[in-house]
Amino acid sequence: MSKQSLTLVGLGPMGSAMADAYLAKGYEVTVWNRTASKAEPLVAKGAVLAPTVADALAAHELVLLSLTDHQAMYAILGQATEALEGRTVVNLSSDTPAKSREAADWVNGHGAAYLTGGVTVPPHRIAGPGALTFYSGPREVFEEHRATLEVISAADHRGEDQGLAALYYQLQLDIFWTSLFSWLHAVAVAKANGISAADLLPYASGTLASMPDFLGFYTPRLDEGNFAGDVERLSMGLASIEHVVETGLDSGVDSSLPTAVLELLRRGFDAGRAEDSATSIVELLKQASA
Ligand code: NDP
Repeated sequence: MSKQSLTLVGLGPMGSAMADAYLAKGYEVTVWNRTASKAEPLVAKGAVLAPTVADALAAHELVLLSLTDHQAMYAILGQATEALEGRTVVNLSSDTPAKSREAADWVNGHGAAYLTGGVTVPPHRIAGPGALTFYSGPREVFEEHRATLEVISAADHRGEDQGLAALYYQLQLDIFWTSLFSWLHAVAVAKANGISAADLLPYASGTLASMPDFLGFYTPRLDEGNFAGDVERLSMGLASIEHVVETGLDSGVDSSLPTAVLELLRRGFDAGRAEDSATSIVELLKQASA
């Protein structure tokens, strides 16, 4: 059941957007931030600024953290560990799955329940359509606070392992960063050839919009380990990316990003996968990390 009150620690763009969303819903919100002045706009809207971390933790049972990383959590909560007893800490700060598990153990060790969260949208989309946050940790803790957590976004509980929310979050960023940079590389090549980013926009958007079709087609094959070269062959992919790299270099553009793809496909070729699908590279990637 929703408690209609909470403490929010960390008032960067994300924490501030979350505090705004709770205040707009009539929640009683206590805030704390290392740089206290960032609380001023929220205090003007009815939030209470706690003078110390211990006061912030004492104010409400539910404590949300929105910090740069988990190191910031230790820096802050380490000042008032005795005040953690009986609290539920939901850490919405980004970090790795391993560090999320460690953070959960540390908080649990001080007598508080813990959930890991991974917010998938920027601050301006908090409490808006399509906003989604991954959660992991004890199911009953999640269910108890679900209604409150759903004020900021849809809430997707991925499992009891505290690392899972961070893992799903990092998997999305894995896709996000490389996709964003592939677009930036294309923009650089376009501009070097007198084509503006605006000219490219409809075509770049079309290419990205076609990706779910590729993902949908290849996903069952990847899960089955089916790398048949019946639709495309790795050797074709290698020739194709060679043209991409050459076009970039001919345009005087740093082409290290497509070159990384080219090198992976060459490794696949050298490993005898020329007639397989280019998606068979996933097997090489797994071996490299073993
Ligand atoms: P910021 O890094 O801008 O700010 C987070 C907060 O962390 C600030 O309140 C800052 O305090 C505090 N902080 C950092 N280091 C310390 C420390 N050593 N001791 C005390 N406080 C510290 O992050 P955002 O608000 O942008 O994001 C918060 C989290 O949400 C991050 O983990 C981010 O990865 C994630 N996220 C952000 C998105 C975005 O678009 N912004 C999108 C999705 C997730 P102070 O104000 O004093 O500097």
